[in-house]
Amino acid sequence: MENCIFCKIINGEIPSNKVYEDDDILAFKDINPVTPVHILIIPKKHINSLNDIEPEDEKIIGKIFLKIKQIAKEQGIAENGYRIVNNCGEDGGQEVQHLHFHLLGGKKLGTKIV
Ligand code: 5GP
Ligand code: ZN
Repeated sequence: MENCIFCKIINGEIPSNKVYEDDDILAFKDINPVTPVHILIIPKKHINSLNDIEPEDEKIIGKIFLKIKQIAKEQGIAENGYRIVNNCGEDGGQEVQHLHFHLLGGKKLGTKIV
């Protein structure tokens, strides 16, 4: 989609530090990490937000979570644990309107979600 930062990262218009890529998924390091490990996992298909997923997206969402598990292991944070965050919409604090999941880890995270 035009004017979507993450679509531009997918098509190479904007450089990124890639961690994993296949036909359906891209994982790359967040430009402004808030934890020692901060990776964004996105579908290559442009989906605005979690509010916009459809039954046809069931497979890709499942694939993303299986990939998150693998990336967490590769990053060495699987055993100690990590947090997955999805910000959805205005109240959720979503800044980029392309569905993405934050993989946060590498330190002990607080117990508060908000
Ligand atoms: P949101 O607030 O929408 O859940 O998160 C958007 C995330 O995208 C933020 O953590 C921000 O640092 C990250 N981000 C925004 N623009 C870029 C970019 O051009 N490259 C990378 N690697 N991350 C970005
Ligand atoms: Zn997009």
